[in-house]
Amino acid sequence: MSNSPMTPRRITRQIFIGGVPVGGNAPITVQSMTKTDTRDLEATAKQIYDYAAAGCEIVRVSVPTPDAAKVFPEICARSPIPVVADIHFDYKLALAVADGGAACLRINPGNIGGQDRVKAVVDKAGSKGIPIRIGVNGGSLESELLDKFNGHATPEAMAESAMRHVELLERENFHNIKISLKASDVIRTVQAYRILAKQVDYPFHLGITEAGTVWGATIRSSVGLGILLAEGIGDTIRVSLTGAGEEECRVGHELLRSLCLRQGGFRLISCPGCGRLQVDLHNLATEIEKELQTINADGYTFAVMGCAVNGPGEAREADLGVAGGNGEGLLFRRGQLLRKVKEADIAAEFLQEAQNLVNS
Ligand code: SF4
Repeated sequence: MSNSPMTPRRITRQIFIGGVPVGGNAPITVQSMTKTDTRDLEATAKQIYDYAAAGCEIVRVSVPTPDAAKVFPEICARSPIPVVADIHFDYKLALAVADGGAACLRINPGNIGGQDRVKAVVDKAGSKGIPIRIGVNGGSLESELLDKFNGHATPEAMAESAMRHVELLERENFHNIKISLKASDVIRTVQAYRILAKQVDYPFHLGITEAGTVWGATIRSSVGLGILLAEGIGDTIRVSLTGAGEEECRVGHELLRSLCLRQGGFRLISCPGCGRLQVDLHNLATEIEKELQTINADGYTFAVMGCAVNGPGEAREADLGVAGGNGEGLLFRRGQLLRKVKEADIAAEFLQEAQNLVNS
């Protein structure tokens, strides 16, 4: 019997966002959303490149106006990763961006004004082979559903909202669908996804929406998405932060790695520090982690430890480690002591040894 605490992955259909598979047995992907004015082509294209460099695999771009839709094809042409167009209400914008290179439409069919418009969007998406993501947000549920659930966007109300949108697409025999059910709190989000997971086999995009600043949102996303992923629910994720999209991607990858759902990247072990600390551990670990991201250190384990008590043990176990001492540090490479270095030189020498290690 397996000792893994992970539930086997929920079996879903597989869809493709551009060339990226989502669902089925495809790796769980990390995505983000641009935060520029979409009409600003240069800024948006640059941001997408920066996201991709940080590990973003699918990017969403909001298309709120016809002017944004005009720029959209050029954004897609320049993007190294598939672009999802985020549309609210205006089905004509959906038709325009589908012609303009969108790899997926995020649009809620119940909000676009009737089944004839749903049919127009579905026909277009079908002819282009692009999926539609239904994105239910706990903050903007249909008023009839709020009435039905005593004014509250309960998990049941969110799941029912998703099913209403799904039925509008299925009525047109469209099944190239993925779904998100986001609320700003963890418990409601988790429950909503659990309910819907029993009702459909479409892949899920996971996220906690409006989750807060980097500190709070990282915690809430890690807990919420972590619970669902451990239950086998989730096929692509977005960590929403009031902060840089690159940070969203890095958090997303680390979240997946922590559940062994992703390989790649490096692992940095660092101690919390205590009264025995004899070096400036916080700055040292932060600087080393940041710089390690600039070298291809996939699969390596690094350790940055504060003192001679637990430090040498962890530092020896890592591919490369340093154990702080009194104004100095002991550098270890795969269990072997390399040398003693002055505190001021630890970061530079550590990074040079890391580069040597990955080049070897
Ligand atoms: S390695 Fe040393 S400084 Fe770091 S937490 Fe352990 S005892 Fe404290």
